[in-house]
Amino acid sequence: MEPLFTPEQLAEIHAYHQPYYIRAAVEPWVRLALSALLLGVLVRPVYRGATAAAAALERRFGAGLRKAPVSRAFFSAMDRLWGESGWGTAILFALFIDVATQLLYAPANVYFYYVLEHRYGMSNDTPAGFAWTWFKGGVVGAIALTALVVGLYGLARRVRRWWLVLGVPVALLMLVASALDPYRARLYFDQSPLPEGPLRARITALMRKADITFSDVMVEKTSVTSKRIQAYFAGQGPTRTIVLNDVILQEFAEDEVLAAVAHEAGHVNEPRWPGRIASSLAVMALLLLIDGLLRLSARRGWWGIQRPGDIRTLPLVSLVVFLLISFAAPVSGVLSREREREADRYGLKLTGDPGAFRRMLVKAARVNKMDPEPPRWLVLKGMSHPPMGERIAAVDTP
Ligand SMILES: [Zn+2]
Repeated sequence: MEPLFTPEQLAEIHAYHQPYYIRAAVEPWVRLALSALLLGVLVRPVYRGATAAAAALERRFGAGLRKAPVSRAFFSAMDRLWGESGWGTAILFALFIDVATQLLYAPANVYFYYVLEHRYGMSNDTPAGFAWTWFKGGVVGAIALTALVVGLYGLARRVRRWWLVLGVPVALLMLVASALDPYRARLYFDQSPLPEGPLRARITALMRKADITFSDVMVEKTSVTSKRIQAYFAGQGPTRTIVLNDVILQEFAEDEVLAAVAHEAGHVNEPRWPGRIASSLAVMALLLLIDGLLRLSARRGWWGIQRPGDIRTLPLVSLVVFLLISFAAPVSGVLSREREREADRYGLKLTGDPGAFRRMLVKAARVNKMDPEPPRWLVLKGMSHPPMGERIAAVDTP
């Protein structure tokens, strides 16, 4: 069997991944140190700054905006949501911390997502395109944060069982959100239907054999920014779409594309409800825990807080969420890797073509420059897929 990589390729792959491994080891500690600094020192001065800035904005624009027809409705809606004035301070407090964190991480982000990716030939992105994507992400993040501040803290200030009022709709939304997947992807990349031809015919036949219904096969044009191959199924039942990116169509032979589609088909029949119900319940439990934190900080008077629903608890809440996610990642990683192994077994059986399946995995590893044997601790920290070396070995020794 020909080796997956030549020694030179392997050396390059290791050089490419080394900085990412260092980051994975260091980043959690940086996060914890930043949280400690925020909680121990910065909450009070940042809150004072936000209060002063909100007051200055109110003096400069408040009177005018409270009279103008459209903004008047907005202001009174916000006052009602918040239960009083003072939402400006809360939003500014959250945004100050968000923007400062973004700026702090900016050099590392440029290095990891632009410099390294270009040095190892993984990205086609331009500086302007990269900056634009980043800016868009920042704006979307800031809007989401504002919505969270107003929604969560606004409710927590006024409603005793706010976690129930917020948790039930969020949990229900999470149950149906995956049906919208096919449409969400189209926000980022152009998609067009795969033209009629032998590949489309073979995919259709394969899906008929697997007894999986789908609405269309789409080609996603990701090559404008990335040189990675990608294939996935989005949506389910009547909205299920098979998405292949343009890179995989360039790089893979037909039977290799088919093998990739067969692997994805293996994910279709996974039982989804246990996971969905578990994550909905987890969200409820998390909100209940946050409720406890809000009450505790008010009782103890931390950072000068006098009542539950004070925005000054936000850094504490994000620290707790970060810790919970970090501790849950190894567990969900184990489950995810087991699903991937199962999808490989399923795909292999569906195509009945181990040769093509192996070539598909080898090419995926080569094109995406995957480390065939990443450090064990990184896998255990919560990697979603088994290492490529392991997946290929499983095909070789069924
Ligand atoms: Zn998979």
